[in-house]
Amino acid sequence: MLKLYNTLTHKKEVFRPIKESGVSMYSCGPTVYNYAHIGNLRTYIFNDLLRRSLKYLGFKVTQVMNITDIDDKTIKGSQKENIPLKEFTKKYERIFFNDLKELNIIKPSHILRATESIQEMIFFIETLIKKGYAYKASEGIYFSISKSKNYGKLAQLEKSKNKKARIKSDEYDKSNPQDFALWKFYTEEDGNIFWEAPFGRGRPGWHIECSAMSMKIFGPQIDIHTGAIDLIFPHHTNEIAQSEAITGKKFVNYWIHAGFLTMKEGKMSKSLGNILTLENLNNGGFFPLDYRYLCLLTHYRSSLVFSLENLKAAKNAYERIKRKIIELKAKKIKGKDLTKEYKDKFKKAIDDDLSVPKAVQIFIDALDNQQFDSLKKLRLLEKFDEVLGLNIEEMKEEDVIISKEVINLMSERETARKNKDFKTADKIRDKIKSLGYSLEDSPDGVKAKKI
Ligand code: AMP
Ligand code: ZN
Repeated sequence: MLKLYNTLTHKKEVFRPIKESGVSMYSCGPTVYNYAHIGNLRTYIFNDLLRRSLKYLGFKVTQVMNITDIDDKTIKGSQKENIPLKEFTKKYERIFFNDLKELNIIKPSHILRATESIQEMIFFIETLIKKGYAYKASEGIYFSISKSKNYGKLAQLEKSKNKKARIKSDEYDKSNPQDFALWKFYTEEDGNIFWEAPFGRGRPGWHIECSAMSMKIFGPQIDIHTGAIDLIFPHHTNEIAQSEAITGKKFVNYWIHAGFLTMKEGKMSKSLGNILTLENLNNGGFFPLDYRYLCLLTHYRSSLVFSLENLKAAKNAYERIKRKIIELKAKKIKGKDLTKEYKDKFKKAIDDDLSVPKAVQIFIDALDNQQFDSLKKLRLLEKFDEVLGLNIEEMKEEDVIISKEVINLMSERETARKNKDFKTADKIRDKIKSLGYSLEDSPDGVKAKKI
């Protein structure tokens, strides 16, 4: 039985969806004002692992993700680049989806842009005003946290003495919970970005977005809501307050939060100038799936301390898997059927709050087991890959990356052979061997193979 750690109750709980027909899962999406950094991407890999695991375990999953294409940062960014907001956010949205594709992340079932759900947000806010949970202030419409019964339970907040204070910014400090903006009235800084609402011209705050969009697709209650730990407060705390104020029902049954990716020197953040993107990794010779593999090796709730050394180690391990899978595809060796044994172990790992690092080890143990019938082994590993997403179905000979040094040596050897300098050619072959490759003749010429 699947158990997931629920931030709301601080324990691992048996997962039971509301409806037998399927699981509703909402994942907070990106603010599209810049490239996603690899910390952000770790969280999307986690979402993907959760969704794939649920499917593997037999659940039908509907996943919704929002795109925040309107907020302070997107407005400022578009003004700075002097392009219309829509064009600006579209650019980063495209890059984001391309990143997801390269990381073999399955696209959510529904992707909702904030700017395309403004009417739902306006309706949501109007209802909150009517019910007495929201009020008008000079800067916008605010949610009154003192009206909310369990405000701050998710984040284990002490109810603030200072709860009469108001905050306009979407992100703020946990030590000071305050009434937050549902709707920000228009100011000149917003340029031509505004919507008309019965309570005044302006634009939505960030938190209302996810409550309204979740409601739009799923109705009042959902099974799972995900994000990284930084969203517990204020974002998710405020989502609960708004949604439950409207419906009077428990908004989310399982709040699942992923740990942060950090650098040795601390947080990955723009102000520290230590942000890395997939493109940066690519320029360093790393493929997106090397990074995905690295992420699989740390449990989703733990922090992942990123370094180029651990990425390099993950890359080597992933390349070894690739070589072994390619060899396995070419083999037909009869052996024992160990499918059930490994399948049981794999399920046990996933059931235990998505213990993916253990699942990866089980995958490797099965791959390395010489007694296992080769065809049955391949079928089983393909099944496991429905969770891991290492793309083993696509792995083929040319994917094995041979180092530049070996490629250069091979070409030197070819020249020596052409010149009938067989002594030099043999020396080069030995050098290549010492680097871990053997050379084999094939109809298309000489090929290097990892020993
Ligand atoms: P943003 O685009 O800033 O709204 O962030 C997108 C997602 O990335 C959110 O779910 C954040 O919680 C998450 N996130 C931000 N920084 C990190 C990090 N260093 N490690 C893991 N997740 C992060
Ligand atoms: Zn959200």
